Amino acid sequence: MSSFNDIFETYNWDDTKASIYAKTSADVERALAADKRTLEDFKALVSPAAAPYLEQMAQISQRLTLKRFGKVLQMYVPLYLSNECSNICTYCGFSYDNKVKRKTLSPMEIMQEVAVIKEMGYEHVLLVTGEDNVNVHVDYFKKVLELIRPHFAHISMEVQPMDLEDYQQLTPYGLNTVLVYQETYHKEDYKKHHPKGKKSNFKYRVETPDRLGQAGIHKMGLGVLIGLEDWRTDCFFTAMHLNYLEKKYWQTKYSLSFPRLRPFSGGLEPKVEMNDRELVQLICAYRLFNEEVELSISTRESANFRNNIIKLGITSISAGSKTNPGGYAVEPESLEQFEISDERSPAEIAKIIAQQGYEAVWKDWDSCLT
Ligand code: SF4
Repeated sequence: MSSFNDIFETYNWDDTKASIYAKTSADVERALAADKRTLEDFKALVSPAAAPYLEQMAQISQRLTLKRFGKVLQMYVPLYLSNECSNICTYCGFSYDNKVKRKTLSPMEIMQEVAVIKEMGYEHVLLVTGEDNVNVHVDYFKKVLELIRPHFAHISMEVQPMDLEDYQQLTPYGLNTVLVYQETYHKEDYKKHHPKGKKSNFKYRVETPDRLGQAGIHKMGLGVLIGLEDWRTDCFFTAMHLNYLEKKYWQTKYSLSFPRLRPFSGGLEPKVEMNDRELVQLICAYRLFNEEVELSISTRESANFRNNIIKLGITSISAGSKTNPGGYAVEPESLEQFEISDERSPAEIAKIIAQQGYEAVWKDWDSCLT
C-alpha cells in the first residue's frame, strides 16, 4: 500500500529549504489574501519574509480559530506510565544510555496517579511512556486502558509507534488519540539523533500515521521537535504530511504540536534556535493553512508566552504536568523526560483563560456519543 513516504522521497531537503527562504513579501501578501491556502502559501507564511506581517497573521489566525472552535480551550494532562526506553535519542532524558533508575507504574500506582489527576479536574489524559517493547507493550497498554477507561472521557497516547494490528487491537479498548512526532524530517540528522533502537528506522516512523489512519483512529497528532533542524523546513514537511493524511484518511481528526527542545538530565543544546515571535508566526501559519486542525501547547513553554498565545490559534493546553512516572503521587523524584517551564496549576491556567474571555473545557465529548 502506498504511504506518505512515497511522496516524501520525491522531495529534497535543501531544495525545499531554499524555496522557503526565497519567498518574498509579494508571496506573503498573496498568501494572506488567499481564501484557501496552498502548501506554497504555507512556505511563504513561515518564511523570514513573513516576519513583518505577524500582526496581520495573528488577526486572521484569531478570526479563523474563533469561527471554527469558539472561545474554548481543551484542557489535558500527561500521565507518564514508564521511563523505560530501549532507544538512544540525543535530546531526551529517558534515552537508553542515560544510566538512571527506571520505573514502570503498576496498576495500583496508576490508580494513585489517576486519583490526583481527577482531583485536578481532568477528563482528558495523555498516556506517555518511553519506547520499550519489553516492559511497555501492547498487552500492558490494553491493561492500562481497561483500568482507566471508566475514569476519563478522552484517552490519548504518546508511546512507541506500533504495527497496524496493534492499533487495531487497542482502539476497542477505548484509545481515542495517538500522538506520533517525527522529531525531524531531515533524514541524515534523524539518523544522528537516533543512533540506536527501533526509532532509528526513519521509514517505520514516518509511515506510522498511515497505519493509524488505516486502523481508523479517531484523532492523531503530528509534529517535530523544534531545535533539531531548520524549523521552517521541518514544519513545511509536517504541513505536507498533514495535507496528505487529511485527504487519505478523511474520517480522522488531526492535531499539531510544536515542542521546542527543553533542558533535561544530560541535555542537548538546540542546533537551531526559535524565538517566541517565530513560534507565534508558526502557530498562525498553521492556522492560516488549515482551519480544522487542532493546535496544542504544552507546559514546555513559559507562563508569559502561554498567557499571550491563548487567543491566537491554540485549541488545547496542558497544565500542572509532571513528566516523570509517578510524578503526581507515587514517586515525585523519579527521572523526568524534560523540565517543564510553566509550573502553574490547572486552576490557575483555567482562571487566566477565563480572564481572557475564553472557557477552559475539561470534557469536550463523551465516548457514549460515538
Ligand atoms: S524521545 Fe522517546 S524514544 Fe527517544 S529516548 Fe525519549 S522516550 Fe525514548
